[in-house]
Amino acid sequence: MKLLDKLKNIEKTAMKEAVEAGSLDELEQFRIKYLGRKGVLSSAIKNMAHVAKKDKPKVGKFINELKQKITLLLDEKEKSFREEAKSLFEYDDTTLPGIVAELGHRHPLIRTMEDILDIFKKMSFKVVDSPEIETEFYNFEALNIPKNHPSRETFHTFYVEDGEFLLRSQTSTAQIRMMEKEKPPIQVVHAGKVYRPDAVDASHSFMFYQIEGFIVDEGIVFSDLKGVLEKFAREYFGQDVRMRFRPHYFPFTEPSAEVDISCFICGSKGCRVCSYKGWLEVLGAGMINPKVFEFVKYDSSKYTGFAFGMGVDRICMLKHGITDIRLFYENDVRFLKQF
Ligand SMILES: [Zn+2]
Repeated sequence: MKLLDKLKNIEKTAMKEAVEAGSLDELEQFRIKYLGRKGVLSSAIKNMAHVAKKDKPKVGKFINELKQKITLLLDEKEKSFREEAKSLFEYDDTTLPGIVAELGHRHPLIRTMEDILDIFKKMSFKVVDSPEIETEFYNFEALNIPKNHPSRETFHTFYVEDGEFLLRSQTSTAQIRMMEKEKPPIQVVHAGKVYRPDAVDASHSFMFYQIEGFIVDEGIVFSDLKGVLEKFAREYFGQDVRMRFRPHYFPFTEPSAEVDISCFICGSKGCRVCSYKGWLEVLGAGMINPKVFEFVKYDSSKYTGFAFGMGVDRICMLKHGITDIRLFYENDVRFLKQF
């Protein structure tokens, strides 16, 4: 049983040395010393040959258990050393540069809207607000769109709450709200979202932005409208831009016109954007229909006015050569960063 006594001494020393091992290196030395190919336990196994046959199971069991004890101790110590090292590594290094928060900027549509409004503000237009949820009266009736008009169909408008309310399909609603509140002279612009249940594609969206402007006073004539719009077009698109008015129909203006500007991209020579026509359609306008004045109890024999409306999305697309309206609403930072 001399070997067993020797093994018990080895166990005592091993436990003491394991506790004393103060680093991963020392632990590795300890592992080689006891568990290595030429280590203490290997030589003990070799010495089994000299043990009496009856004592062999007892000695063998002791060696196995000692091996397990040492392995377990090694694993635990190694784990705690590694965790300690990791927490040292993860210690907050205040000298490292911080995480810089990315600064956002205004959306290209909002910038376009503000740029356009700024031009009208310089011409003494007042910027007003108007609700997006409207009644049929403000969206249709008061704008001279009678009950049987096709734009009243549900597929042309989003109705909410049993048809009593709807999402406005044009910013012209602001005209009625403003004229109800104030007496002429009125000279305002209003910008905001409008809604149409259109299928979404490269040039259509169920929501987009419009700018509405109008003037009501005594003696307002069509040439005032032309003058204001020409001033706007030159300020916004460039001093060389020319305009043309094409007769059109809107229920709330009479006469009405669609307004084109000469293509600033190709200089009217013809390009893909202007469909090789040399002209770009940018807005709709006209003299306010006297019937609209009846709804707000204005005396149409005394007052006249003009109104115009433009799509902000379309103008932004033309100005920046954007070919797909969906890019404005997808929130892709790679696109938005370019503005
Ligand atoms: Zn062109």
